[in-house]
Amino acid sequence: MEAYSQLDTFLTQAETDIQSANSIEELESLRLAYFGKKGHITALTKLIGKLPAQDRPATGKKLSNARSQLQTSLETKSEKLREKTRLERLASEKVDVTLPGRRAASGGPHPLSRTMFRMQEIFSRVGFDIAVGPEIEDDYHNFEALNFPPEHPARAMQDTFYFHDNLLLRTHTSPVQIRYMANNKPPIRIVAPGRVYRCDSDITHTPMFHQLEGLVVDESTTFADLKGVLEYFVQEFFEQDLKLRFRPSYFPFTEPSAEVDISCVFCKGDGCNVCKRSGWLEVLGCGMVHPALYSNVDIDAERFAGYAFGMGVERFTMLRYGVDDLRIFFKNDLEMLSQFQ
Ligand SMILES: [Zn+2]
Repeated sequence: MEAYSQLDTFLTQAETDIQSANSIEELESLRLAYFGKKGHITALTKLIGKLPAQDRPATGKKLSNARSQLQTSLETKSEKLREKTRLERLASEKVDVTLPGRRAASGGPHPLSRTMFRMQEIFSRVGFDIAVGPEIEDDYHNFEALNFPPEHPARAMQDTFYFHDNLLLRTHTSPVQIRYMANNKPPIRIVAPGRVYRCDSDITHTPMFHQLEGLVVDESTTFADLKGVLEYFVQEFFEQDLKLRFRPSYFPFTEPSAEVDISCVFCKGDGCNVCKRSGWLEVLGCGMVHPALYSNVDIDAERFAGYAFGMGVERFTMLRYGVDDLRIFFKNDLEMLSQFQ
């Protein structure tokens, strides 16, 4: 029959079509054209029955060979196309390992927190424990027990935020001294860091700021011990050999009391704008614990003596990092804060 005599020509064309297929989809439509319901090979297979009996075996064999040949070619080509697709995908997903990496943005402690951690760490090294107390205080712990009787003029030195019922926002960390002494027997050796509040706001004051208070009570504590501890702290904190100067002062809860100046960390005492040409910076207040405090906390004033000191965390942070406006610490400006990491 005519259809079978052209089988060789058909096979040659089919081979060419298969080899030039560019995609799996194209190859699939060729497969359908040969082996689908209406495919050429399918049609030829159906016609076998109409051949004269003596022609059927030879033609059947030829057709069977053609079928295997085409199936093998389709299979081989399909394999090649799949490999090609895989290589293309790998090429498109290639990673350039020499490109610079993207660093994850990381946060860090606020400069004031860093300063407080640093202060605590320096005092911890010489045996101080950390103590804390409430920020909402009562009049007794914030004033009265610290030897500020009612109507005492020293109360006017601190502009206080009052609530009802004698409650207030603590104006200093000193009430922690009272709370700690009321609950612990000497020897006492603590620092108390924390927030304090005063009704005040300008370039050098914010309504909320931070202090670190120190208290030592023991049998033979002297003013010389106080000087020694403060000298150690200042040298460690600023990592500089700084001089200390004690000037007589007044605090209700210490007697004698002193303000402490350090030689200017910027000009080393030569005089600059920061120290107003004096060569000195006022950094903290201190003194020997006033005996009147002991009667409030059941400590024997005849047997024990103590010293206390208090310092502004903002002040120390500004001096350490050379910051001249206190308010930048409270603006939450991430660009500024990230410089301290
Ligand atoms: Zn200076």
